[in-house]
Amino acid sequence: MSYMTEERRLIQDTAREFAMREVLPIANKLDPLQEDIPMSLRDKMAEMGYFGILMPEEYGGLGLGCFEYCLVTEELARAWMSVASIIARGNGMIGWAAMTDEQKQMYLPKIAGGEMLGSFAMSEPNTGSDIASLTCRARKDGDCYRLTGNKYWCTFADGADYLMVMARTSEMDPNRRHLGISLFMIPKKRGELPPGVGGAPIPKIGYFGFKTWELAFDNFRVPKENLIGEEGKAFYYATSGLEVPRAHTAARSIGLARGGLEDAIAYAKERVQFGNPISDFQAIRFKIGEMASQIEAARQLMYYVCDEIDGGRRCDKEASMAKLFASEMSERVTSEALQIHGGAGYTKLHAVERYWRDARLTKIFEGTSEIQLRIISDNLLGRSKR
Ligand SMILES: Cc1cc2nc3c(=O)[nH]c(=O)nc-3n(C[C@H](O)[C@H](O)[C@H](O)COP(=O)(O)OP(=O)(O)OC[C@H]3O[C@@H](n4cnc5c(N)ncnc54)[C@H](O)[C@@H]3O)c2cc1C
Repeated sequence: MSYMTEERRLIQDTAREFAMREVLPIANKLDPLQEDIPMSLRDKMAEMGYFGILMPEEYGGLGLGCFEYCLVTEELARAWMSVASIIARGNGMIGWAAMTDEQKQMYLPKIAGGEMLGSFAMSEPNTGSDIASLTCRARKDGDCYRLTGNKYWCTFADGADYLMVMARTSEMDPNRRHLGISLFMIPKKRGELPPGVGGAPIPKIGYFGFKTWELAFDNFRVPKENLIGEEGKAFYYATSGLEVPRAHTAARSIGLARGGLEDAIAYAKERVQFGNPISDFQAIRFKIGEMASQIEAARQLMYYVCDEIDGGRRCDKEASMAKLFASEMSERVTSEALQIHGGAGYTKLHAVERYWRDARLTKIFEGTSEIQLRIISDNLLGRSKR
């Protein structure tokens, strides 16, 4: 079955052209310097409507589906994964659907238009895969809440225009740990942390283009109007509809793998050893054939999942499969791409090392591979006790 319509081809071709012209040269220049995605690129992406692909048209979005979102994502990730990620700061910001009408009117058009991009602070030093264990506390104090606690892995905390912070508004009930967690929106000045919030960037090994922060809140004041959705319900906001970010991460993984493949093909045709382009050697040819097959398999699974999501059909198991398969594939394929480059691949002079480093992350964030396997096996075997 082909999912591609004429409109989707156009969206794909336009995104491909944009990514290769506007994103790739910047990625190749800035990633080795560990610099941030420049505002000029963010503005161009906003003009393309990329921050609001999924956002309803009434709020200034494009009102398209997960399929189109992932088509664009694959193309952007082929050039720079961080750029494919930043569009989720508009499209995929946790909790927007739970906003009041007033909050939606106030924020969504700006979010869809890329004027206001967010950063999500859920993880903590001792809270990773087990979200329900989070301990950052929000205590009610008259007309506000006071936040105290530490957050970890908060990507884009400095560059964003607001933070979405998950914090506990009631004591943890050991039997129902997922209850009592709330979501707060903290608007802030772009380029810095909110005054009174401490923090430092984490020295990560890739995913450059933005910094990832540890944050410290100490009695930090948040007006009560900045509570998003119902008090105590944020666990549901963070975990419902996870199929979309998983499909999006599959698309990022596929884009990276394609970057590796395309660069490996170009390199293999040019690099001469033993009097022949290395692309003449069967060992290299078979690698290329294998890499392309793996990418296509991941892509078809992702297309299927997107179609299920857009059709309103439940597909949590398949979305986990797509995320798992695509991210594991991406690490293998980008590693093979690096191998085809030989020693040149192990330098900062070629983009392939970046694809490989970034592909490694796709197995960790948006639910690790082990967590995806847990979801898939729970679906097949019934829930495990651990
Ligand atoms: C670069 C980067 C950017 C990030 N950006 C953000 C962000 O913007 N906002 C945010 O909130 N978070 C962010 N994260 C956090 C990310 O979501 C977590 O790293 C991820 O959920 C895993 O949590 P952890 O690192 O604490 O690993 P842990 O949960 O401690 O897991 C460690 C290992 O144990 C395994 N494991 C854990 N539980 C089980 C289980 N039940 N069964 C089997 N194996 C298990 C894991 O798969 C893993 O291999 C980011 C992370 C990174 C690395």
